[in-house]
Amino acid sequence: MTYQNTLAFAQEQDKQDTLHHFRDKFYFPQVNGQDAIYFCGNSLGLQPKSAQMYIDNEMYKWANLAVEGHFKGEEPWFNYHELLAAGAARVVGAKESEVVIMNQLTVNLHLMLVSFYRPEGKRFKIITEAGAFPSDQYALETQTRFHGYNPDEAIVELYPREGEHTLRTEDILQAIKDNAEELALVMMGGINYYTGQVFDIEAITKAGHEVGAIVGFDLAHAAGNVPVKLHDWGVDFAVWCTYKYLNSGPGGTSGVFVHERHANNPDLPRFAGWWGHDASVRFQMKKGFIPMQGAAGWQLSNAQILPLAVHRASLELFDEAGMDNLRAKSERLTGYLEYLINDVHVGKDVLEMITPADPKARGCQISLLVKRDARVLFNKLMEAGIIVDYREPNVIRVAPTPLYNSFEEVYRFSEILHQCLEN
Ligand SMILES: *Cc1c(COP(=O)(O)O)cnc(C)c1O
Repeated sequence: MTYQNTLAFAQEQDKQDTLHHFRDKFYFPQVNGQDAIYFCGNSLGLQPKSAQMYIDNEMYKWANLAVEGHFKGEEPWFNYHELLAAGAARVVGAKESEVVIMNQLTVNLHLMLVSFYRPEGKRFKIITEAGAFPSDQYALETQTRFHGYNPDEAIVELYPREGEHTLRTEDILQAIKDNAEELALVMMGGINYYTGQVFDIEAITKAGHEVGAIVGFDLAHAAGNVPVKLHDWGVDFAVWCTYKYLNSGPGGTSGVFVHERHANNPDLPRFAGWWGHDASVRFQMKKGFIPMQGAAGWQLSNAQILPLAVHRASLELFDEAGMDNLRAKSERLTGYLEYLINDVHVGKDVLEMITPADPKARGCQISLLVKRDARVLFNKLMEAGIIVDYREPNVIRVAPTPLYNSFEEVYRFSEILHQCLEN
């Protein structure tokens, strides 16, 4: 698609955008008395206006039914998590039974590692991307220690080639082959949070399985950003948070995917709780854990209704918009951002885009490595009403989301960026 660096062009794109009206369904933070240009949905998505009503419903139930709310009314809390599985499954390309919404991301990652990182004999290694989100690094580090290994020996971190910022798929696949005999697990982000690189989940999964390893992904930056097909691609397990692209509130709940081939395998070790116990006999409160079928069998505690209520509001918007429509707009919107950055930046040597240029290898985030005074540039953007984020040592992440951002905002961003770079 050909772009133009004019306001009229941007406004025309918004006019043609069938998702444009979704903006009105969100609250935008105010800066200098007006809506901020919010390009930080990769960190904390905006609040859907409908979330309040979903919360209020549950507060009302609690006030009026109290403990009876677990079983009475149209949507009793006993089954509340089931109301979310289908919508969440559509976002990550799974069967409903393969998905459960519970806990928070890092907790779920540990629960999955309990079941799926089972080192034995010489198979004890984990392949992961270097520079993964710190929580994931700490989870892997402490899981390997928990099993009695030295993390420096057990964890194989993959680095980009000299002079490159992102990993080549061929190098990931080669590393899997090179470690074939010793590999227990491949555990990577679906999208790296720093560079915005989308990993080839399908190819990595296939390569991992070919050498007899388990393959799992952290979809924190992928869920609600790029379409994935966890079931068809045969991924063993995945986890994600819901407060980034999925707009479900600070510290919001998290999703778990367990492929159906594992769902009813009694040999898999797991850390269990009563909410994972067979629902039909749960309240008999008897000894002896009998897991629910599917991902629901990994639940520990009774569901956190308020965060789940917010997530429901958000999932409804994703269903209305459709992941494929969102992705189609996202490629154009991010492409426009890339085009404009290149356009305002010609002849200067301050910015380097470290996100892949191939639209298939990125979602809606572009990470800008700022070669001079990165903090100063970031502060200027923020003062001008643009909310982006800064990651040490010198990267500004810019994420126009297709659900609530517009071409005009991308245009205005580039105008302000241009002004900041001129000064
Ligand atoms: C955001 C993010 C986290 C945060 O973990 P929480 O448990 O939700 O605090 C972890 N991992 C990745 C890859 C992330 O992007």
